[in-house]
Amino acid sequence: MPDFDVAGDPALRATLRAARAWGVPLSVFLGRKQVTTHEYLNGQPVRSTTEPLWLETDRSAAMALELYEADLCTGCGQPMSESTLLENEEQYQISYEYCHGCVELDEKGFVLTGKDAAGGPTTLPLETSRPRVFAVGDVRGGSTKRVAAAVGEGAAVVAQIHASLS
Ligand SMILES: Cc1cc2nc3c(=O)[nH]c(=O)nc-3n(C[C@H](O)[C@H](O)[C@H](O)COP(=O)(O)OP(=O)(O)OC[C@H]3O[C@@H](n4cnc5c(N)ncnc54)[C@H](O)[C@@H]3O)c2cc1C
Repeated sequence: MPDFDVAGDPALRATLRAARAWGVPLSVFLGRKQVTTHEYLNGQPVRSTTEPLWLETDRSAAMALELYEADLCTGCGQPMSESTLLENEEQYQISYEYCHGCVELDEKGFVLTGKDAAGGPTTLPLETSRPRVFAVGDVRGGSTKRVAAAVGEGAAVVAQIHASLS
């Protein structure tokens, strides 16, 4: 399957989104017409073959856009597979005011942490489903909704942040 650099090509993304909005494959959006070939025997038509609407490249391009979008944080819009990499720490400016979209929540909308978060066996007690993202206080599922509890968790999380960075 051909590769499409959807992440690095905003114009391609815009074109693919427009094609998706119109409900047509990329190649058709760009002007391709479906070709129908007629076969004749003794001057009589015996078979007509129309090429498929969706070409393999169309499917690859559409899938590339879907995979790219599935990787975007629903809160801040950053590509999560890249923005959460340690080596890219300085390259992404995270909008903290909006970035709540990439951690697992419980049914009431509180942030899951520790063993309740599907982060894996090494998830620390106040760590969310995303490694090195922590939650304390009222926003955390299962917390005691009191000032002293929030302050206590705020103190406790410091050691866990240090542990996750070491
Ligand atoms: C009416 C009332 C009375 C209470 N009385 C008591 C009491 O007597 N004793 C007691 O112990 N507890 C009491 N509580 C509970 C106590 O207020 C909370 O447990 C405590 O404030 C939790 O602290 P926190 O830092 O986790 O959250 P908060 O104090 O709620 O702080 C969260 C902060 O995050 C900000 N914020 C929210 N969304 C975003 C965003 N998207 N981006 C950036 N910032 C954001 C908010 O504006 C807020 O400043 C009371 C609560 C209420 C509502």
